[in-house]
Amino acid sequence: MNEALVAVKGLKKYYPIRRGFFSKSTDWVKAVDGVDLIIRKGETLGLVGESGCGKSTLGRLILRLEYPDEGVVQFEGRNILEFHDDELRQIRREIQIIFQDPYSSLNPRRRVGSIIGEPLTIHGIAKGKDLEDRVIQLMEVVGLRPDQRFLYPHQFSGGQRQRIGIARALALQPKLVIADEPVSSLDVSIQAQIVNLLLSLQSEFGLTYLFISHDLNLIEYVSDWVAVMYLGKIVEWATQEVIYEDSIHPYSEALFSANPTTDPLAKRKRILLEGDVPSPLNPPSGCRFHTRCPLRMNICEREEPPLTPRPNGSLVACHAR
Ligand code: ADP
Ligand code: MG
Repeated sequence: MNEALVAVKGLKKYYPIRRGFFSKSTDWVKAVDGVDLIIRKGETLGLVGESGCGKSTLGRLILRLEYPDEGVVQFEGRNILEFHDDELRQIRREIQIIFQDPYSSLNPRRRVGSIIGEPLTIHGIAKGKDLEDRVIQLMEVVGLRPDQRFLYPHQFSGGQRQRIGIARALALQPKLVIADEPVSSLDVSIQAQIVNLLLSLQSEFGLTYLFISHDLNLIEYVSDWVAVMYLGKIVEWATQEVIYEDSIHPYSEALFSANPTTDPLAKRKRILLEGDVPSPLNPPSGCRFHTRCPLRMNICEREEPPLTPRPNGSLVACHAR
């Protein structure tokens, strides 16, 4: 097994919400509420869960775009939450993000060449002819034509814009790339191209990915490991093979049962969950899945189940299984 690049321990991020303009009391959105995770070198951890469960917040915490309320984020064994100026600058090179919507993350008034080269300029790594060469090389790596560097973002299609975002993310030769719903805004016909580009770049440059998506087929396709998130918590964590063949947590089971497989012989019984996802403002007591769980027992309302190792190698947080 590869060694850990990132290890997250007890990570929490609560957002304050004021109840009303005149109200002094504050409620808290528990966006990430005690997450432990490992991302191994050269591998892809797929993070899957319904919208609003805290996936993007977890990504931003690992990037240190946001600072957690509690917990530790280790990168190559060092707690990046304790980093100051120089170390922080270094970590900003080593961890990059690819966003869902490439358009809003690209400055519309700048030419694509300067957008892709900007990280190299900011970090004082290249200028002049060297910068231009590197930009051209990056464009070739992601399948753009070097002469397109004089164009502006609006002159590109969605898929090409995501290629620009990827080139920019790769400019500093990062170790970890966080891809947050990187193809969700693209046409289905383009999605496969971008996903395959990300996979080939991974093997070419030995990248490690945190791949965030609500799309189970996509997560199955790209991941070595899969973590299933529900209301700010990881409920199951396993290798891709194990979780797709043999998921244990009733929430994962329901998610995967609702996922159309490409194998017509696989007879998955579709499990329908009761009710909607509860609000992270007021998550249920105990196991926060208990309000929708077909297997709930008395203990589930009272006690939060810890993630525990199972015989098939997965980690699962469930009292009933
Ligand atoms: P996901 O990416 O899984 O859809 P997010 O991490 O974006 O989920 O959000 C998790 C929860 O935190 C949601 O309820 C969201 O509304 C809330 N949230 C995210 N960012 C903020 C913020 N800056 N302020 C307040 N609430 C936030
Ligand atoms: Mg998100």
